[in-house]
Amino acid sequence: MPLSDFAFQRCISPACGYTCGVEEVRVACPQCGDLLDVLYDWNRGAVPKSLRWFEETWSRRHEPLRFSGVWRFHELLPFAKPESVVTVGEGQTILHQSDSIGSFVGMKPGRLYLQHEGMNPSGSFKDNGMSAAFTHARATGAKRAACASTGNTSASLAMYCASVRTIKGVIFIGSGKISYGKLSQALDYGALTIQIAGDFDDAMARVQEVSRDLGIYLVNSVNPFRLEGQKTIMFRVLEALRWEVPDWIVVPGGNLGNSSAFGKAFAELKALGLVDRVPRLAVINASGADTLYELYERRGLRWNGGQANMSIADHYFKELDQLGRKANTIASAIEINRPVNLRKCLRALDDLQGVVRQVSDQEILDAKAKVGAGGIGCEPASAASVAGARLLRDQGVISADERVVCILTGHQLKDPTATVAYHTTDQEQFNKVLGSRGVRRASFANRAVAVPNDLGEIVKAINLYS
Ligand SMILES: *Cc1c(COP(=O)(O)O)cnc(C)c1O
Ligand SMILES: [Zn+2]
Repeated sequence: MPLSDFAFQRCISPACGYTCGVEEVRVACPQCGDLLDVLYDWNRGAVPKSLRWFEETWSRRHEPLRFSGVWRFHELLPFAKPESVVTVGEGQTILHQSDSIGSFVGMKPGRLYLQHEGMNPSGSFKDNGMSAAFTHARATGAKRAACASTGNTSASLAMYCASVRTIKGVIFIGSGKISYGKLSQALDYGALTIQIAGDFDDAMARVQEVSRDLGIYLVNSVNPFRLEGQKTIMFRVLEALRWEVPDWIVVPGGNLGNSSAFGKAFAELKALGLVDRVPRLAVINASGADTLYELYERRGLRWNGGQANMSIADHYFKELDQLGRKANTIASAIEINRPVNLRKCLRALDDLQGVVRQVSDQEILDAKAKVGAGGIGCEPASAASVAGARLLRDQGVISADERVVCILTGHQLKDPTATVAYHTTDQEQFNKVLGSRGVRRASFANRAVAVPNDLGEIVKAINLYS
């Protein structure tokens, strides 16, 4: 079996400590039900002495393993042998520095960075994780892979299925929620798409049951191998900063896989002596899907060395059920009330001195317009990171001369409906898409200008507006 013999899986609950090999396919601890980590006996690996070592691999970009922005850090996620890696060239992403967006956030020049994970082949950061999950799935002989998705996980899953050809994709989506950009990808790549009458949280619950009953390989972020791939987002941020650790990482929070992966990445780098300090972490919820904010900032839920008082969370979920409250935000990728990686995220917040904030759909869309006007562009959920950084600047939690990296999780073209509705002059369209979400105005709208079909009028309009 082409898997590493010094990687293993272990339950994240220190009180449990269940361990098994990486050839096992599990998404929960069979002993206590908690999440699993992929861990390594680093002494037996080939960990470089310094992160600079990875620069030497750039000259080997003709090799798929070193071209991939995930697998050129293979030494830091060595759960599979190089020859078994599945890659489509994911992770060729860019760390932008932007002073126009920086000034919107309230940063001094040169201090705001945006890590554009929308540049991945399927248009979202999910490819980082999916390439790792598919490497594990193929090595363990999976024939079918499934996910529940608000859209981007399914787009990525469908792409990797179409690429490896030996694994058939099955996608669960909630009804009416998925954007056309994302749905079109799943259909185009040829995955079996099952639309269930319910929301994402329902789809997530069903896919776990179906995967268990039918033995289908599950690629949601409860899959610990996916998070190994997503660690590399942090490695690339460091690489772009010439291996200097930023002060803040700001990331939107949905199922909390990214934030968990980032925490693990830095905890490992620190333990390996490859960084001398870690950044602080800010996880940003949409206010219509603010479970983490509510539990962490309002109700005081903490990792507490693995002894988190989960009755706080259970109680909150019961309240949601009693009130019939469903997640509701224009940022569909983070429209999730029951984040599956909650416990791992608590650990990451603990490791990286984290904070959690919530931002409204209004703030998200205004921030998104600024990201677009800054020449970068992203989908609504991604802009939560920028809106969140701005809020934390306002509150004085982040100071103007700290170095801040916002993660842009998905591409601008994923959800054109939201973008066009924001910029439209058609009040009816605005109300239909955004007004129903409590968005009242488009503070940074770039309106299309209507002119008669007449040369003189067109010239007049151009001179007036440019
Ligand atoms: C999946 C996704 C998120 C949420 O990430 P989690 O790891 O689930 O917290 C945010 N933004 C976009 C664009 C996504 O696709
Ligand atoms: Zn356990």
